[in-house]
Amino acid sequence: MSDEATLSRRSKLRFYGWGYVDEALSAEEADRVRGSAQRLARGAPVEVPVPQINDFELPPPRVAVPAALAPMMSATPYDRLVHSLGKSFADIVRMFLRAIPRPPDWVAFPKSEDDVAAILEWASGANVAVIPFGGGSSVCGGVEPAVGDGYAAVVSLDLQYLWKVLEIDRISRAARIQAGALGPELEGQLKPHGLTLRHFPQSLQLSTLGGWIATRSGGHYASLYTHIDDFVESTRTVTPSGILETRRLPGSGAGPSPDRMMIGSEGILGVITEAWMRLQDRPRYQASASISFPTMANAVAAVRALSQSGLFPTNCRLLDPAEARNNHVGDGSRAILVLGFESADHPLDAWMRRALELVADHRGAYDTDAVARSLAPDNRTAEHRQGAAGQWRNAFIRMPYYRDLLVALGIITDTFETAITWDRFETLYEGVRERTQGAIREICGDDVTVSCRFTHIYPDGPAPYFSYSALGTSTGDLSTSLAKWRQIKAATNEIVVALGGTVTHHHAVGRDHRSGYELQSSPLFRHALAAAKAALDPAGILNPGVLIDPRGAS
Ligand SMILES: Cc1cc2nc3c(=O)[nH]c(=O)nc-3n(C[C@H](O)[C@H](O)[C@H](O)COP(=O)(O)OP(=O)(O)OC[C@H]3O[C@@H](n4cnc5c(N)ncnc54)[C@H](O)[C@@H]3O)c2cc1C
Repeated sequence: MSDEATLSRRSKLRFYGWGYVDEALSAEEADRVRGSAQRLARGAPVEVPVPQINDFELPPPRVAVPAALAPMMSATPYDRLVHSLGKSFADIVRMFLRAIPRPPDWVAFPKSEDDVAAILEWASGANVAVIPFGGGSSVCGGVEPAVGDGYAAVVSLDLQYLWKVLEIDRISRAARIQAGALGPELEGQLKPHGLTLRHFPQSLQLSTLGGWIATRSGGHYASLYTHIDDFVESTRTVTPSGILETRRLPGSGAGPSPDRMMIGSEGILGVITEAWMRLQDRPRYQASASISFPTMANAVAAVRALSQSGLFPTNCRLLDPAEARNNHVGDGSRAILVLGFESADHPLDAWMRRALELVADHRGAYDTDAVARSLAPDNRTAEHRQGAAGQWRNAFIRMPYYRDLLVALGIITDTFETAITWDRFETLYEGVRERTQGAIREICGDDVTVSCRFTHIYPDGPAPYFSYSALGTSTGDLSTSLAKWRQIKAATNEIVVALGGTVTHHHAVGRDHRSGYELQSSPLFRHALAAAKAALDPAGILNPGVLIDPRGAS
């Protein structure tokens, strides 16, 4: 145990926001962000300075840890702050407010599965809540120690020392990977073998395999392999009641799937320590096109046709006109579809040709020369990084870096996502935009535009992802921003579910989506989940308050 030094091997992680301390916005990027804040605030808003560790006064840990566990436990302010919150708008704003009422008492850094089991055993006996922590990129309150008053203390259990690819089965094209590996760590170990998991959430840099499995995260494949679920072959989970390991099988009809029970369990059933994952060969062929449509209705009809064609595009991001304008890939008059195919095995000309016929049936227009260049053998991986596709991709990767500065400037900027069947999409799309814009107008007094893109598509419906920015405060009073955000969040949870969508397609439930989850899920199912939790976690110490009520009440 150390008073000063961090026990983290990720000690360069920014404790209050996104990224590492040596990654800053360029002066040009910062100017652009300040410019857009000024437009929303109609003048220069007060910019709150970034927090420093010494700004926080953390209460001392409420319990002592047993001597046997002490070497892996830290109570340094840096470690406790990193593990106090995730990376939602509310999390960043509370860091800027220097308001962290509930830091974890201790942060545990286990180095083995036995360490994890020992922590769970002690915590179960000592009434200490344990929050599994991967990369901490949760945007729904999943890693926050908000466990109520019924626990003696809270430990955040960080899996970062379990980050290795342990075994590769080249014949079945699968690997056994430890749950604490961040996206780049995992891909870096697979690359020399010519393999990839190819699960690329926007948060890839700062999220882990275990976090992806625990939250059913969504990667960059727009169709077919949309969620991490599709890549999981088997899992190994340490629970307070013992180790739950599933068999490696390509498929099985033997009863309800135990993997499916752990996938999406958000840390309430156990700590996932490793998984066998299905891998891909690295793609050799890539083709992309940017297609524009005169109306959103045309674009939606085209995407529906694509989703039902069996072509299964890798990328099928439809940006509505407002989203296209916000991402600088259009003037806001047309919807833009960023379409892409990739393969490790075969050229993609036939796929792209048929896809372009389908979009042309719905008034889609595209640059034939650019498509031809993207298909050219010597340009297989370059063209798709240019044009609207490339511009959109760059904006997508930089967005989390811009958000910290926007928060400091009093701007509320957030997203919410859902999924809906095609027959109800139009009602949901119009309804969400109208009602959310109305709610934001009432709460913030601003006329804001809610924009939409599709992140994933299925034959029976899309996963729409909505974004908005509004003025929280121009005076630097960030508690006003936070209060307004909370009102907007409650409204969007309710609106999306009322219009038939799910409260989340891939961001998970955590604590912030509980109100929507309770509206959409059956009480009987929540009761069954509570019973499973009682069997695996009899003392109810694992991530209390996520998904269902602490101690099992549904
Ligand atoms: C800028 C940004 C972009 C994002 N983009 C995407 C995206 O494209 N797709 C997407 O799906 N999500 C996205 N997210 C949300 C987030 O990255 C995902 O939910 C991700 O899967 C969380 O992984 P993590 O390792 O950071 O988990 P954490 O945030 O550490 O934890 C998330 C939840 O999983 C539990 N958990 C973590 N590890 C384990 C484990 N080993 N065993 C048991 N439970 C565990 C935690 O207790 C918590 O409930 C984004 C977030 C941000 C901030």
